[in-house]
Amino acid sequence: MAGFWIEKAMTAMSEREWESLCDGCGRCCLLKLEEIDAEKVHYTAAVCRYLDQKTCKCSQYKQRNKLVPTCVKFSSKDIESLKWMPFTCAYRKVAEGRDLDWWHHLVSGSKNTVHEAGISVRGKCVSELFVHPDDLDEKIIQWVHA
Ligand code: SF4
Ligand code: SF4
Repeated sequence: MAGFWIEKAMTAMSEREWESLCDGCGRCCLLKLEEIDAEKVHYTAAVCRYLDQKTCKCSQYKQRNKLVPTCVKFSSKDIESLKWMPFTCAYRKVAEGRDLDWWHHLVSGSKNTVHEAGISVRGKCVSELFVHPDDLDEKIIQWVHA
């Protein structure tokens, strides 16, 4: 039987289903550099100060949009904003008609597989607090792209 993410339109998902789609990779919390003319986004290894780098969860989830105005907030009605999300992001995948990978917890049954598969940012990023904004371009990475 196909999962709800295949069978249901995103707009028909319950809040619980919607929240469960997040794979917990933390990639969307990496700082990005935008090339406006080229309409391109580069991901960097600098990560938002509020990401718990061990769990890859936001330490300020409820007030994240107040604390970080650029923190991506999207809903099933706003999937256009997903085009800047990581290519592996579960929301983007489902919006684009792609299936979830084996390491997604809804497929594997374990929230550890996103780390085991090397998809999460655990052990690969540095807090933005330790990166000068002028040096951000030196932190551009290739293992995450939009
Ligand atoms: S990139 Fe997508 S799947 Fe990964 S943590 Fe962010 S919202 Fe969740
Ligand atoms: S506030 Fe939380 S969810 Fe938003 S970018 Fe920072 S760590 Fe990620």
